[in-house]
Amino acid sequence: MIPFDYTRAQSTEDAIHSIGIGGSKFLGGGTNLIDLMKLDVEQPSTLIDVTKIALNKIEPTETGGVWIGALVRNSDLANHPQIVAEYPLLSQALLSGASPQLRNMATTGGNLLQRTRCYYFTDTAFPACNKRVPGSGCAAIKGFNRIHAILGQSDQGPTNPHSCIATNPSDMSVALAALGAIVHVESIKGKRAIPIAEFHRLPGANPQLDTNLKPDELITAVELPPSPFAKNSWYLKVRDRQSYAFALVSVAAGLEMDGDKIKSACLALGGVALKPWKSLDAEKSLAGASPSIESFQRAAKLTLQGAKGYAHNGFKIELAKRSIVRALTIAAHGTSSGVTA
Ligand code: SF4
Repeated sequence: MIPFDYTRAQSTEDAIHSIGIGGSKFLGGGTNLIDLMKLDVEQPSTLIDVTKIALNKIEPTETGGVWIGALVRNSDLANHPQIVAEYPLLSQALLSGASPQLRNMATTGGNLLQRTRCYYFTDTAFPACNKRVPGSGCAAIKGFNRIHAILGQSDQGPTNPHSCIATNPSDMSVALAALGAIVHVESIKGKRAIPIAEFHRLPGANPQLDTNLKPDELITAVELPPSPFAKNSWYLKVRDRQSYAFALVSVAAGLEMDGDKIKSACLALGGVALKPWKSLDAEKSLAGASPSIESFQRAAKLTLQGAKGYAHNGFKIELAKRSIVRALTIAAHGTSSGVTA
């Protein structure tokens, strides 16, 4: 780890004025940033500790949704009564991530900014990684790519400066994407509200960027609109071991039922792209349909349209389709039904 300066912000105002120094980064729970600093992947000149700022409240909004401060810890969010009752999908996703110790430290804002766990990104012994060293190539395309993307990747060959097939590792973000969250940010230039669908990026021509957050912007809160999916939702995470592992594929699924028909649906996939993957066509195909294997398979097929696998992760395409059908089937039986699934 290279030497760095440390300062503690006492307020949002204080923090957004301090970040003007080049190479500075905000420090929340530190569960990802500090690890990457120890590996020399991240090399900030200054850490601005924001954990003493009063951004740790969970409050109902006037429109019937919920306002989640950026510094709310993942454990507190997962177990909050309003989240458990009205957004069980989010609670389940959070509790499927990391370990109790990490969830006690990790913050809502920090979780949104988790970086990929691509082996070639986190190991500086590998020279080719466009995300870590822009223009150096992508070792994963011809390397070991079991955990890599099958959707939305930028693949123009292993030596191309724009290639990247990494995935986003966050479970929380998948549930937030399904539920239509809004990310609130602030800088000295003012405040912005970013729909979650526009917060994370696909690699495109800039694989070094994970999000559309500007370097001087601080995440202050995440807002969720009222959810019609509380009674029929499920977060399914498929991974190599039962706990403390990232998703090979995950599915956040919610159904709003009207009698024996689906009125509306929300659906997002994790572990398959550099951002939570949504298919509006798949969600639309479920609206008005009966909750059947056939309608769920149709939605799965639409979601995986254009998917492309590599030497070690081709299995994810079929796994994702089957996971979507399973998550929707459990959701259709009711949120609590999953405990026996
Ligand atoms: Fe780097 Fe992305 Fe390629 Fe991984 S997939 S080696 S993060 S460029």
